[in-house]
Amino acid sequence: MRVAIIGAGAAGLACAVELQRHGVVPELFEQRPRVGELFPHVAGTLQLFNRPVDDQVRYLRREFGLALTPLAPMRRILMKTPYRTREVRGRLGYFFLRGQDPDSLENQLCSAVTSPIHFNTRADHRYLARRYDYVVVATGNNEVPAALGCWQPLMKAVVRGAVVLGEFDPYTIVMWVDTQYTKGGYAYLTPFSARRASLVLNVPDAPPAAADYYWSTFWRAENLRYQVVEDFVWEHYFGWVYPHRVGNVLLAGIAGGFMETFLGFGLLGALRSGVLAARAIATGQDYEELVKPLRREMHQTLVFREWLNRATNRDVDLLVRVITSPGLRQLIYNTNLEWIKWTARSMTLWRRVADRLRQLRGAGIPARDPKHRPVRPAAPPRPAERPEGPVPAPGRSRERPWRRIP
Ligand SMILES: Cc1cc2nc3c(=O)[nH]c(=O)nc-3n(C[C@H](O)[C@H](O)[C@H](O)COP(=O)(O)OP(=O)(O)OC[C@H]3O[C@@H](n4cnc5c(N)ncnc54)[C@H](O)[C@@H]3O)c2cc1C
Repeated sequence: MRVAIIGAGAAGLACAVELQRHGVVPELFEQRPRVGELFPHVAGTLQLFNRPVDDQVRYLRREFGLALTPLAPMRRILMKTPYRTREVRGRLGYFFLRGQDPDSLENQLCSAVTSPIHFNTRADHRYLARRYDYVVVATGNNEVPAALGCWQPLMKAVVRGAVVLGEFDPYTIVMWVDTQYTKGGYAYLTPFSARRASLVLNVPDAPPAAADYYWSTFWRAENLRYQVVEDFVWEHYFGWVYPHRVGNVLLAGIAGGFMETFLGFGLLGALRSGVLAARAIATGQDYEELVKPLRREMHQTLVFREWLNRATNRDVDLLVRVITSPGLRQLIYNTNLEWIKWTARSMTLWRRVADRLRQLRGAGIPARDPKHRPVRPAAPPRPAERPEGPVPAPGRSRERPWRRIP
């Protein structure tokens, strides 16, 4: 079986490792001269967002066959609003080194890949789809899913970041929210070591040209005194993807929409979807079915994203005060209860009820009239599943087959 993987990032490399395990030797195409992002940074993974998974590193090894060594465990989160700083402690997640360092996550994965990697090669999915049995698109952006008509944009964020020198706790992530420089986003600091850290500002719906404005406002507002040794600007794309397979092309990682929409953390989604794409190819299982739990997780975080888009500094401050209050803090951070899932469900339900009440009031119908029986609107027709077959040429796939996950 001939399999091509476009992109030797988190999803593409994870996919290659799993295919090899099944006896398939894929070919990888990577536009850069080596694996790893051009700028070093430290990615955090929050255990709260992956429950009931207790330990993400063990989970990746056990369920996905990926033996990864994190940079450090995350033991403390410092949350900063314009009004206060609060902290939580516990087994909160992990830090992973990203970039071209020999110990980076990409290089750890790459050392397990024995299949050929064609570096300095910008691949085209249409060309490869005609020559290979399967093509896995793991390009870390929305180009291919948009060309295939599977991408529904949700949000675009500009990411401004730097490697900074100073004094840091290697086990602590610091997070800031202040709408004057984060808008509906946030800033965070993740440590490489006690002397070096990565500082990242994520501003939704801002053009790259505005990145420097928000970045300097952030430094001024927080009176930061770090020394910058390297900096970068990046654009993050958030979107729904459906379907995740078009003909013989499978979409993984960010190209498959596997990035949670609240904080834009997509590392675990990329690794998991890469492995699942490989399993679908090697075992003939339905990729759409395999990624269903991931889609559900991404969908859950959307309600928090919508909230954060509208939230004022006071709203965020209230949230921080509530979740870090004694008692509740223990319950949220030191148990394995699925808070994200249940809070998302309650918020969605509450929003539906509130919308309905608003509608009833708008129609002049007293909301509490016991005789009133609202008529359920007819369910929208289900979009037809795409037939399997050759990859449609661009321009022939203009319809949008995505759908909101119920
Ligand atoms: C600054 C920053 C901080 C982040 N912090 C976190 C975090 O703290 N926690 C977290 O969970 N996530 C974080 N993320 C997100 C996370 O890094 C991504 O979700 C994850 O890397 C996505 O993996 P991927 O494989 O889809 O894409 P990538 O890892 O970006 O890999 C894509 C690869 O495809 C290659 N490529 C693209 N197009 C082509 C082509 N046509 N031909 C050949 N090669 C191609 C690229 O060169 C790249 O190597 C962060 C991202 C950034 C940018």
